[in-house]
Amino acid sequence: MEKKYNPYENMLAVLEEAAGKLGLCRDDYIALCSPERELTVSVPVVMDDGRVEIFQGYRVQHSSVRGPYKGGVRFHPEADIDEVKALAAWMTWKCAVVNIPYGGAKGGIRVDPDLLSTKELARMTKRYVAQILPIIGPEQDIPAPDLNTDGQVMAWMMDAYSMLKGYAVPAVVTGKPLEIGGSLGRVEATGRGVVLTLMSYLEKMGLAPDNMKVAVQGFGNVGSTGAKLLKENGFSIVAINDVDGSVYNPDGIDIARALDYAQRHHKTLAGYTEPGLTKISAAEFWALPVDILFPAAMENQINEDNAGSIKARIVLEGANGPTTVEADAILNAKGVDIIPDILANAGGVVVSYFEWVQNLEAFTWEEDEINKKLAVMMKKAFTEVWHVSKEKKVPLRMAAYMVALDRVVRARNLRGVFP
Ligand code: GLU
Repeated sequence: MEKKYNPYENMLAVLEEAAGKLGLCRDDYIALCSPERELTVSVPVVMDDGRVEIFQGYRVQHSSVRGPYKGGVRFHPEADIDEVKALAAWMTWKCAVVNIPYGGAKGGIRVDPDLLSTKELARMTKRYVAQILPIIGPEQDIPAPDLNTDGQVMAWMMDAYSMLKGYAVPAVVTGKPLEIGGSLGRVEATGRGVVLTLMSYLEKMGLAPDNMKVAVQGFGNVGSTGAKLLKENGFSIVAINDVDGSVYNPDGIDIARALDYAQRHHKTLAGYTEPGLTKISAAEFWALPVDILFPAAMENQINEDNAGSIKARIVLEGANGPTTVEADAILNAKGVDIIPDILANAGGVVVSYFEWVQNLEAFTWEEDEINKKLAVMMKKAFTEVWHVSKEKKVPLRMAAYMVALDRVVRARNLRGVFP
């Protein structure tokens, strides 16, 4: 079935507009309109019952203009080449906007990981690494966690790569467990970056958290860590929507309790109750009277079907590509400020960068040092985007793309078109 929204087309539309606003000529950015390399692999897995199943896998390398390719790997039943291509390009812009020396890439396997046993998942992951081996490596392309992948999956990836090379190569992936070269602060980094960016925005607007009401979509790593940190910073999380439905508590959800529940119930809130909590529909969730909408799940969640009903005045994009181009226009027209994905959720790849640097120098840093460095980089990126937004009178998303594209194009022009 063809998907209603093509995330790659979405990415291209914003890229074209940013190029126009920067006054770039076609030759400056035409190479960035298609990925440098796309690899589709077939991943055979011996299932626990002895049958062989084939899964489709992808690794797309969008740009290496500013450094090695970098980006996560997701396991999802709807992963396809257009999604992975868009996600790879977004990594290029994200790394450029926070000014870390990487290009962009993304990988995925079209699979519902809930249907596989742990052993099947390990075999699938390791075989996927074998299939993409020629194009990854610590100086070439460094995968990381994304949707439905975590430290354990990174450990399997690191093991497969190392076994096939014949020696341990921790720097080939980031987001690893601490025991094998992971970094302190990496698990919380994306959520932490989201909150830091929101705080920078509020500071510029002369606002304080002051129990501002937040609705969170998605309760995975980004949604749950983000919710926890938002709560700690004085926001009130009033609604959560996850794969099993939406819950609403106008007085504020007990986030510590909800997190504990989700951890004990396969990471979902299905069956969770607390005084004052009611179940609501997805349509009601999007239309809640909240200050901040925090999408932290998948792309295209805010689209022309629900954008018109949104009452929040801030959309804080924890997910990659949660807002379609059409919805973006609707929200901009309503005066909603969107703090864009490539800026708001860049904390994850920033601490991935710190992890990679620690691996390469074979030296570990303290957590407070990592969090401080993250805060400095997020603040700097926000301030740069904010200035462009004010100076050019464009929304924050367009400003972020302009900052990113300008950096990538400058690098490209210095290097020239090979040969
Ligand atoms: N998957 C995360 C993202 O979309 C992290 C990527 C990384 O750390 O390389 O930003």
